[in-house]
Amino acid sequence: MDLITIQTFDNYFNANIQLTRLRSAGIECYLKDEYTVTLDPLLSNAIGGIKLMVRKSEERNVKKLLREMNEEADSKLLCPQCGSHKFILVPKRSTENLLTAITTWLFSSYAVSAENIYQCSHCGYESETLPEVESESYN
Ligand SMILES: [Zn+2]
Repeated sequence: MDLITIQTFDNYFNANIQLTRLRSAGIECYLKDEYTVTLDPLLSNAIGGIKLMVRKSEERNVKKLLREMNEEADSKLLCPQCGSHKFILVPKRSTENLLTAITTWLFSSYAVSAENIYQCSHCGYESETLPEVESESYN
């Protein structure tokens, strides 16, 4: 299987948001070097950040999708508390110390992804799902 890097990130949260978006759009994708970058952010530059990998055969499709999603994402999300459009994915069990939170998260199994939560990067409002201006049609 030919994999290519479709996008790179310098932190786990942004990478994970994009991964989740692509997967929910039905694209098979993986993160590469996520642990290296998360454990040692200084290495991020050296290894080129966290890489979002997709099948080469899906490159065109994914690029188009990413462009559309990036354009849509910011305008669609809306914090009910402050009206901000920026959300980040954080571990649900929030502690005062971000490093502790990340460590707890890493040493738990991958299955804890359900325990991540979206947080408004402006006011800190938390939501289980990405708050959208209007939900997609249900039919
Ligand atoms: Zn907010």
